[in-house]
Amino acid sequence: MALIVQKFGGTSVANIERIKNVAKRTAKTFDQGNDVVVILSAMSGVTDSLIEMASRITPSPDKRELDVLLATGEQTTAALLAITLQSMNYPAKSLLGFQAEVRTDCSFGNARIVDVGARRIRELLDNRNIVVVAGFQGCDPDGNITTLGRGGSDTSAVAIAAALNADVCEIYTDVNGIYTTDPRICPKARKINRISYEEMLEMASLGAKVLQIRSVEFAKKYHVPVHVRSSFNEEVGTMVLNEDAEMEGVVVSAVTCDMNEARIVMKQVPDVPGIAAKVFTPLADEGIVVDMIIQGTQSGEKNDLTFTVPRTNFKRAMEIENKVAEEIGAEEVLGDENIAKVSVIGVGMKNHSGVASKMFASLAAEGINIRLISTSEIRISCVIDEKYAELAVRALHSAFGLDREE
Ligand code: ASP
Ligand code: MG
Repeated sequence: MALIVQKFGGTSVANIERIKNVAKRTAKTFDQGNDVVVILSAMSGVTDSLIEMASRITPSPDKRELDVLLATGEQTTAALLAITLQSMNYPAKSLLGFQAEVRTDCSFGNARIVDVGARRIRELLDNRNIVVVAGFQGCDPDGNITTLGRGGSDTSAVAIAAALNADVCEIYTDVNGIYTTDPRICPKARKINRISYEEMLEMASLGAKVLQIRSVEFAKKYHVPVHVRSSFNEEVGTMVLNEDAEMEGVVVSAVTCDMNEARIVMKQVPDVPGIAAKVFTPLADEGIVVDMIIQGTQSGEKNDLTFTVPRTNFKRAMEIENKVAEEIGAEEVLGDENIAKVSVIGVGMKNHSGVASKMFASLAAEGINIRLISTSEIRISCVIDEKYAELAVRALHSAFGLDREE
């Protein structure tokens, strides 16, 4: 007997038929003698349409009221699942975020969970109830309803699993698990059986579509084993866990591709102290996050400075840097939105050498030019032209032995 937290995403509860399927799966887990807590998202599309409705009234609705509105999506599915389970003669009770004591800070629309007082859930479990909790929502110290940011019900599930010290947090979604790369780009992508929290965090661009990154941070902090799997079949999915010796044996576990960045080059920047601060402080002041930076020496007293920013901030960053360039006497600012960042990720990299050179060689073999490079302990990233992104992903996937056997 185990304590199992099951979270179902929007596509898994998209209509009554699917809610009935969720109920069957949950009931089966319960019948096996387990304690079951179910966390739900809103039906797919509902959160978007609620936002859209409010925006038809005003372009900037009050954030507190928007959270009251958005929380209704999850309130609906939680009640519907409890009703379905009861109609099948299972003892089920739904709880909203505040009833489940999901306590958050006050940042409406993007609140962080501070703690979960699982007393109420435990009581219900002790009386052999299936507990259904509305995901994505919590309650601030003043009793206001808050929401956790898009995709936030993953974080609700992991936080509740942590508070209950659950044996596993199962995340049911519309894919079979986490893949070695995006299967739409690379048909030879394989489902990963086990992956570490750290790798999952580095895989943000792949993983964020499946798991809200904050939920992985939570899982890592509280050592919650997370099982990402499909709600449409019985297949075992991907376990996200603490790293172990077996994982370290694999040098590269995944290849990712991120097309959400843009590159800015400031040409012929005077090489004197304080320049980097002048270039980057105005970006930081506007909350623009700079990812990669390269400073290359051209001649003795002038450098080119190259860096990347999120594509959504590209126009603003260019405006800012054009001004800065004038002030500091740089020659010109060039920008390029058509770039891609391809990365290889793996905890095994920590104690294997030659990963970077293998990566560079496989890109070179395809005639792909590398524009920027950055690394972390378990990741190597190269910025290349966007048009080569898919080719690069396939080449790296095969070079690092990740291709599925036919
Ligand atoms: N319904 C919310 C959203 O669409 C939360 C979630 O699905 O996790 O972002
Ligand atoms: Mg999701």
